[in-house]
Amino acid sequence: MSARPQPASAVRPYDVERVRRDFPILATRVNGHPLTYLDSAASSQRPRQVLRAIEDYETHSHANVHRGVHTLSQAATGAFEGARERARRFINAASVREVIFVRGTTEGINLVAQSYARPRYRTGDEILISALEHHANIVPWQLVCEQTRCTLKVAPINTRGELDYEAFRRLLSPRTRLVAVAHISNALGTILPVAELIRDAHAQGAVVLIDGAQAAPHTRVDVQALGADFYTFSAHKMYGPTGIGVLYAREALLESMPPWQGGGDMIRTVSFERTTYNELPYRFEAGTPNISGAIGLAAAMDYLESLSLEAVAAHEARLLELATAQVGALPDIELIGTAAHKAAVLSFTMRGVHAHDLGTILDAEGVAVRTGHHCAMPVMTFFNVPATARASFGCYNTEEDVARLVAALQRARGLFG
Ligand code: PMP
Repeated sequence: MSARPQPASAVRPYDVERVRRDFPILATRVNGHPLTYLDSAASSQRPRQVLRAIEDYETHSHANVHRGVHTLSQAATGAFEGARERARRFINAASVREVIFVRGTTEGINLVAQSYARPRYRTGDEILISALEHHANIVPWQLVCEQTRCTLKVAPINTRGELDYEAFRRLLSPRTRLVAVAHISNALGTILPVAELIRDAHAQGAVVLIDGAQAAPHTRVDVQALGADFYTFSAHKMYGPTGIGVLYAREALLESMPPWQGGGDMIRTVSFERTTYNELPYRFEAGTPNISGAIGLAAAMDYLESLSLEAVAAHEARLLELATAQVGALPDIELIGTAAHKAAVLSFTMRGVHAHDLGTILDAEGVAVRTGHHCAMPVMTFFNVPATARASFGCYNTEEDVARLVAALQRARGLFG
């Protein structure tokens, strides 16, 4: 976390009702009940400020970027590059050259896997991940292992869903070329000690990719303070639109990487004999980008910072504490993931009820939770459950939402007797 000064809003009491008024969708009724949206870890809702920024851009400024001399193209380019600068400030990257727009976390990780890891690694090299990763931070490395014959190592977790740090350290060795871990687990909510982990990995000469999909909405991310080599996240989990995210990468690493995808915008000159590539970050952004998405992402960053990330995190921590106590006290409920350091996610099972049935019953009461394996099948295998129900919290959730969840779970228990 950075020591940057806190915005003035951090000292104001958190006014969740005012925040809720920014999110029109929260007025929706579901199955005759007010919507209780507890699925922000899958995708958060967007405030008017984001919706308006996208509409303004689409209404008044849209054209293709980087290519035209005409007024609209210049307006679009200005807005798009302004969004890049906004993203740079949000994560405190040293330069906009280090901020690559991608479709989301999944694409960010695949870009690093294919452009950084694949050309470098060979038999004997190791990639180290943890046992709580999302499939997006497992499968791209398995592909690299198949392509290069390097080896995937997996650091275990304990029964609370925390990384077994001693085991992680034992797996780190001079053979470890890359460490890729989540900042916060989507299935369990565990916050990983990423600053320490990056220091230890660097001491062995490995580079580190942090999957920040679940961290960006809940934690102030300072890539320079962390020392991350790669850090990636998605806009749609932080009150921005789908189809856009950021890959941060240290400039020296990007300079050493071949382009991943070829096409327009990523080139300087093309002939049939030889093509030369554009400068950073454009070399990694082939084709027309998601312009309105980037503008929406920038508006989401403005919005989150206007609330104060610290204030949002404190609000969510209070809700998580309340929900953990109340849901955990219900009969036949088992909490899955009880790490000492957690953020905004409560995973659980109800004895005798499949998570999908539970999710359907809760939906009948207007309570939206995610059920399933949460794209983290190895985590489900570790806890020996086919699936969990997961309630996740965002800046707009209330104690009333927790009460509705608890009441709906009690009714579900009654139904299954
Ligand atoms: N990593 C984590 C920890 C996630 O929670 C998610 C989204 N569920 C992803 C990666 C993939 O993000 P996206 O689908 O936006 O690419």
